[in-house]
Amino acid sequence: MPFNKFERMDKFDPYEECPCGSRKKFKFCCFQSAKDDEKTSAEKFKGYSDKRIQHEANKKWEDTDFKICLGFTKNECRPLIKSAHALQNNRILNRISEQGHVFNISSNISKKGIDADFKKISKNKASTFFGFCDFHDNKLFKPIEQKEYKNEEIQNFLFGFRGFCLEYHRKIRKLNTLRNNFKASPGFMLSPIAVQLYRNSEFDIADSQTEYETFRKDYFNKDFNKLRTIHRRLKKEVEFAVSSSFAVKDDLHGNVINDIYSVNSEIVPNIHVNIFPRDGETVIILSYHNNYDSIYSKYFDELKELSDEDLEKHLNFLVINYTENIFFSPRLLKKLSDEQKRSLLVSFQSSMDAQKTYELNKDGQFFNFNLFS
Ligand SMILES: [Zn+2]
Ligand SMILES: [Zn+2]
Repeated sequence: MPFNKFERMDKFDPYEECPCGSRKKFKFCCFQSAKDDEKTSAEKFKGYSDKRIQHEANKKWEDTDFKICLGFTKNECRPLIKSAHALQNNRILNRISEQGHVFNISSNISKKGIDADFKKISKNKASTFFGFCDFHDNKLFKPIEQKEYKNEEIQNFLFGFRGFCLEYHRKIRKLNTLRNNFKASPGFMLSPIAVQLYRNSEFDIADSQTEYETFRKDYFNKDFNKLRTIHRRLKKEVEFAVSSSFAVKDDLHGNVINDIYSVNSEIVPNIHVNIFPRDGETVIILSYHNNYDSIYSKYFDELKELSDEDLEKHLNFLVINYTENIFFSPRLLKKLSDEQKRSLLVSFQSSMDAQKTYELNKDGQFFNFNLFS
């Protein structure tokens, strides 16, 4: 465990590992430079233009990209790590693209804060990450790449696993971004907000490691049925696609399922969500591992009973609130009114900003759009 209960959520202990990632004790590593830098670190960015702030943020994110193979049989790995698609390029992205392009949501950082906007990207780049070697990207996912989806257990397992891997890779990059920020501006190591972000990021990764090991064990034992899956087909094609894993905070009635801010929860597990169109219909695959029945079984029991319409409404909320790995067809954006687009973007941001949620609710604009219509 990276964290024990003697440590504080908002402060680094002098004798814990330095958050710069050096593995030395904080006290004997960056502690002094943190103190020297404390006053200046917050001031440093004040002279920056918005463009420079955005540029630096983009660069910091790019710097953390890394290659890994998350395939299970390490002895079969090939040296080439490909840029793998979490959403199938030919089957799925092709269907929602127009002239080879789709849209996603990108966050723009400025002095005023963070703003979200739609960003056009090539479908060849959408949902890609360096998470599998050449061999595993082909072999491991054969049952979903080369066969139509038929709600087979192994297919549900692989869809869940791939979305999970994309988010796992992102989480590691997020932690490394925080470490790089600390190295560049050690004063932030004394900021309670920055320390909390770092702690949460470490928890996230520890939880993901546990889930990854579970996927691995199940794969070798062929226990594909341990992933409880809800599979639903809609008789229409949606104009977006999503593949992701995330921890759901509240159930359908607003009761807390996972307290993601609590250090007492043993693990905050994910559910795995895949939604995509195909020939005249939409496939919805929702799953979680039955190790976490005590957390998610009631929630899934209720999801299962929902009508198509109510399930759509809930998923409309989930996929905008919890993930960035969602891609929209240019056709969908043409269909949405300006007001609906605005609502979508601000609702997306509201997951990190309680004030925004309050304002949206006040104006009747909180999730005032329907991706499924
Ligand atoms: Zn250090
Ligand atoms: Zn491999």
